[in-house]
Amino acid sequence: MLFDQQFLRIPGPTPIPPSVERAMSQPMIGHRGIETSELLQSIKPRLNKVFGTKQDVLIVAGSGTAGLEAAVVNSVRPLDEVLVIVTGAFGVRFAKICEAYGIHVHRMDYEWGKAFNPEEVTRYLEQYPEIKVVFATYCETSTGVLNPIDQLGAIVREVSDALVIVDGVSCVGGVETKMDEWQIDIVVTGSQKAFMLPAGLTFISVSERAWNVIESNPNRGFYFDLTKYQNNYEKDTTPFTPAISLLFGLEQVLNLLEAEGLEEVYARHQLMMDMTRAAFRALNIPLLTEDKDASPTVTAVQPDDFDAELFRKTIKSQFGLSVAGGQEHLKGKIFRVGHMGFCSPADVLQTIAMMEIGMNRIGKEVQLGAGVAAAQQIYVKKGRENKCQFKF
Ligand SMILES: *Cc1c(COP(=O)(O)O)cnc(C)c1O
Repeated sequence: MLFDQQFLRIPGPTPIPPSVERAMSQPMIGHRGIETSELLQSIKPRLNKVFGTKQDVLIVAGSGTAGLEAAVVNSVRPLDEVLVIVTGAFGVRFAKICEAYGIHVHRMDYEWGKAFNPEEVTRYLEQYPEIKVVFATYCETSTGVLNPIDQLGAIVREVSDALVIVDGVSCVGGVETKMDEWQIDIVVTGSQKAFMLPAGLTFISVSERAWNVIESNPNRGFYFDLTKYQNNYEKDTTPFTPAISLLFGLEQVLNLLEAEGLEEVYARHQLMMDMTRAAFRALNIPLLTEDKDASPTVTAVQPDDFDAELFRKTIKSQFGLSVAGGQEHLKGKIFRVGHMGFCSPADVLQTIAMMEIGMNRIGKEVQLGAGVAAAQQIYVKKGRENKCQFKF
């Protein structure tokens, strides 16, 4: 096998574009100097478009979970009642963060693989008017579900003043997000998924309504106190040393997203989802989610006649192709193919071709090429001109 080659098709971390890698290897600069301020000035207004907000998008050094914890500790006080909508492992994580702070958690649990129903959320809120915050996951990475976040804010407002806080870690940047229009109060994402960077940055944007709650909260912690980040951001600086190399990379990521155009970026993710799903359908291998709930960034597959773990091991050793396994009770039962960030329809075709061979190797009867052909058909029908440009 060719050394030094791998195909990283897990739902994060995701591959990093060569130009972003190079941007990150620039010499270090002083975090209180003019260079860092200029870097932040260049990044700030461009992040707003990705989040669909007029609010500042704050940058905190930490993984995605740090952003989730920051959202919790700033906007909720111990003993407050909150509702966590749980559609998979990352909903569970939100609930656990709240519980760690002594917050009174109501949970609405949905079957893993299904999206939540916004109307049921309203009914729940009518029953429990004390609830101050609703937590939800946009893309539930553990199941490949894209939840109806576009409807959640408006429907919650009809019955409640609760803030709506969304974990968008595995899709913001690859899927349209309109924080203001959708009346979402806090959106959190991380750097290592659709943002095509290494882990280490988390992005948080906060609505006016949420700022009012945060500013009146006496205990916002220390490192995660978002008012510190906001005050510094206005002066093009950060309260603590930022992850400067990642900011260099982020600037280049924004260049790439803008060169392609956000609409095109979102269409590409949609297309990669359609191609992936068509391939497994053609191979008669069940998908975990229905079309209407499917995420453009990750697809969960639930094979019924071969061993998902043996399959993953085989494609890893055969090709250096990594796909993710299942989490919690879905461990061993599903595998998850990431198609986000620095990933193209051409990569999807290659990934499917490799997976077909992997299935063949472990004795699953597949007609080689059937999945690839189905994905090609989708591409021929829906694929747009790639306007592929090499600028390495
Ligand atoms: C990856 C991910 C996170 C954050 O995980 P970290 O390992 O802390 O970066 C949070 N939520 C979702 C939905 C994710 O996919």
